[in-house]
Amino acid sequence: MKKIKKIKKIKNLLKLTFLAFALIAFSFNSTAQKKEPTVVLFTNATVFDGVNEKLMTATDVLVEGNLIKKIGKGIKAPQNAEVIDVAGKTLIPGLTDSHVHIMWNDNIEYLIYSSKDGYLGAMAAKNAENMLMRGFTTVRDLGGPAFGLKKAIDDGAIPGPRILPSGAFISQTAGHGDFDTRMQYQSNHFTGQTDLAYSRGWTIIADGVSEVQKASREILRAGATQLKIMGSGSITGAHDPLDVTEYTLDELKAIVKEAEKWGTYATIHGYSSESIMNAIEAGVKSIEHGLFASEEAMKMMKEKDIFFSTQFLSYSATPEEAGMTGESIPKYNEAKAGATKGYENAKKIGVKMSFGTDLLGGLEIAAAQNLEFLARAKYFSGYEILKQATSNNAELFERSGRRHPYQEGALGVVKEGAYADIVVVDGNPLQDISLLGNPAKNLKIIMKDGKIYKNTLNQ
Ligand SMILES: [Zn+2]
Repeated sequence: MKKIKKIKKIKNLLKLTFLAFALIAFSFNSTAQKKEPTVVLFTNATVFDGVNEKLMTATDVLVEGNLIKKIGKGIKAPQNAEVIDVAGKTLIPGLTDSHVHIMWNDNIEYLIYSSKDGYLGAMAAKNAENMLMRGFTTVRDLGGPAFGLKKAIDDGAIPGPRILPSGAFISQTAGHGDFDTRMQYQSNHFTGQTDLAYSRGWTIIADGVSEVQKASREILRAGATQLKIMGSGSITGAHDPLDVTEYTLDELKAIVKEAEKWGTYATIHGYSSESIMNAIEAGVKSIEHGLFASEEAMKMMKEKDIFFSTQFLSYSATPEEAGMTGESIPKYNEAKAGATKGYENAKKIGVKMSFGTDLLGGLEIAAAQNLEFLARAKYFSGYEILKQATSNNAELFERSGRRHPYQEGALGVVKEGAYADIVVVDGNPLQDISLLGNPAKNLKIIMKDGKIYKNTLNQ
């Protein structure tokens, strides 16, 4: 009898559990059924599609959910659509940046070795929101522990751009990613010490083919969409003079090979001509900075379809304006002198240019992101600059291949089936690129993934 009672009790319990599961499933189902895609119809727009210089006039753009559903004239508004008349404004793809460090919002040594728990993420969340509000809907992050931030943004928990993260830098000992100026951490290869720059996801110091292979695999395992190699000296590096070439050809080839096995690519921080030539030979797909690339190197970049991902704003200030101190000042001046020649060569040879800013170290510095548009105006037309910041960058992002996280639609373009990442500009930025230098005033609407984050059209 007692046994039967017990069995009944268990049966009832099971029934209850089943009921609970059914209820949960039902509530999930019903929210899924209730949720209709948001529908927005932009009317009377002048459209820059990200590719063609010729603008479409009096055009309607229909957004359904997170994608652009239809583009044309006189599109009939669906019943549930929010209709936004953008007559007199230019509708362009969301802006993109091919070189950011979204986590790097303070002195790097402070961030790595001394900052309190939570500071890094809090600052990065703010940086991400600010970037989106400056019109940037996708960025390629070129180093730093950005995986968690990316997830929070993709999950819709916080506002920010889409992120293609590189994760930790791959750097040789004393290379550009060796941040430890106090020499507190000796090579863990010899001492077994844990380096905080490593354990906090900023850098993997790896020397020799087998170590760079392991480093590459760790970074890919963490979710990197491409690998970032530190391939030469730098202006701000703790240990490496600007002229130093880092990594051997064999090491570079090993990293590239690991990236390719994962269906993606490697990019490199490279200043010296030798480091750039090595990187080209090893098979990297984009070169960051690249200011001392010889004409021969530039021609090879063009021939092999390698992106030149350099910056203009960073090298157009005085050393003081750029925040340089001590030994960084002569290095900055040298880089600046190389920059002019580099830009001219790139323009003359017709190397594919991306749009990247590399502004790091604090939210105020990052706030200058849109001034990059103005800094490029000396070398390129408004159309060329806008193309760099939209479809060119998207083409570079495509090189992440199977590791590209956003494959539902195209990025960097306004076309049917593309992601609904859209910015509405007051005026025509192809004629006056400086409009993009003041996003607070001139970007009237910012939409990412079909969601409107800003609309000041009637203000
Ligand atoms: Zn950088």
